[in-house]
Amino acid sequence: MKKLVILGSGAGGTMMANKLATNLEEKDWQITVIDKTLDHHYQPGYLFIPFGMYLPKDVVRPRKNYLSRHIRFIHDEIQSVDAEQNKVHLASGSKIDYDFLIIASGCTIHPEENEGMTGEGWHQNIFDFYTLEGATKLAKFLRGWKGGKMVINIAEMPIKCPVAPLEFSFLADWYFSDKGIREDVHIEYVTPLSSAFTKKVAAAELGHFLEQKNIHVTTEFNLGEVDSEGNKISSFDEQNIDYDLLITIPTNMGAEFIGESGLGDELNFVPTDGKTLRSKEHDNIFVVGDASDIPASKAASVAHFASETLTKNFLRVIEGLDPEPSFDGHANCYIESGFGKGLLIDFNYEVEPLPGEFPLPGIGPFSLLKESKANHWGKMMYRWIYFNMLLRGVDLPIPAKMMMAGKNALHHVA
Ligand SMILES: Cc1cc2nc3c(=O)[nH]c(=O)nc-3n(C[C@H](O)[C@H](O)[C@H](O)COP(=O)(O)OP(=O)(O)OC[C@H]3O[C@@H](n4cnc5c(N)ncnc54)[C@H](O)[C@@H]3O)c2cc1C
Repeated sequence: MKKLVILGSGAGGTMMANKLATNLEEKDWQITVIDKTLDHHYQPGYLFIPFGMYLPKDVVRPRKNYLSRHIRFIHDEIQSVDAEQNKVHLASGSKIDYDFLIIASGCTIHPEENEGMTGEGWHQNIFDFYTLEGATKLAKFLRGWKGGKMVINIAEMPIKCPVAPLEFSFLADWYFSDKGIREDVHIEYVTPLSSAFTKKVAAAELGHFLEQKNIHVTTEFNLGEVDSEGNKISSFDEQNIDYDLLITIPTNMGAEFIGESGLGDELNFVPTDGKTLRSKEHDNIFVVGDASDIPASKAASVAHFASETLTKNFLRVIEGLDPEPSFDGHANCYIESGFGKGLLIDFNYEVEPLPGEFPLPGIGPFSLLKESKANHWGKMMYRWIYFNMLLRGVDLPIPAKMMMAGKNALHHVA
């Protein structure tokens, strides 16, 4: 019997396990999934917790409910991978053999990478919203906050869901308006990028939103350290920004065991072929989701589209064929803009987010790069789609490859 081991049972690992369980013969293949926690978190929902739109219970589900019956689940911490011996070493001391390995261990925040971040201000007036703990503590803080200067800062790129800090800023503008204290809150968005977002056309559009909402933007700020006694952040080139409340998106890094095993780059992301999703170094290792270094957005939607390509490629490789270089970096992200509205962007490695309609040209119902109520409802529906379709490995009626139909290509910037 052949052994497939999947490291991590988050968005990408769960989708891959379920898709392959329906494609591989149970008598010929043992599929094992390893994760250190028993609960699956719907991370896109963390965004809504600080503003009281979701509670923690809305984003947490038992992992086992989402893995199909003949998948073996091991609850343990992965310590290292011996890619020469095809073995995974676990914290309990067990060693798990594999013929093929799929790395789906995602990435997490590392506030300790910036001096002073986890000092006395941590979870007092410095919060993240990229963890359930951070988002929940921030919700409590915001309920009692009377106003002041809120700084939203991205420490360094890449981060998962690069639009989430913008969405946080837009929702903060709405939340404080709704509470009747918007005039008492100065919001500043501080980014290491040269504009509001990674892609030019979308950056211009999102930049207008920030301006309209009176959110001050500081670009090219590369965070050095945090002075949590003096309430200021400093960049490597010695710019200083004061804050009363710091919302940080700390350095994102791949899992520690990736580094320990010599499988990663300096941020523990696995060098991966962006089109085949195979490890650049080991032919029997594949990577899905945030764990890879591919130049696509780190997003659940990307993990989903990639899982369709990877399923096909995995089935080819076990038949002795080469994987096809067919993944196009497709990402599809709803962007909450506050006041019950949102935007949608749909793009890939080659094509920037463009205006238009999605998925049906001329009909929508979603508008690309334009604010609408339908887009907000699309974002709210995403949680149901995530738990009931994506995680279970059900294909959506949207192709994995990005469609040009419905997009206004006049704006195309390659
Ligand atoms: C605030 C926020 C908002 C977001 N919004 C969106 C959005 O609107 N749309 C979107 O598409 N995406 C969004 N994302 C991104 C999305 O959640 C991630 O891209 C997605 O979860 C990546 O899936 P993954 O499988 O690669 O990693 P994960 O889902 O993070 O799963 C990794 C798994 O590996 C396990 N693991 C790691 N190390 C070990 C170890 N040593 N031993 C055992 N197990 C281990 C972890 O426990 C975890 O279960 C958002 C993320 C955040 C934080």
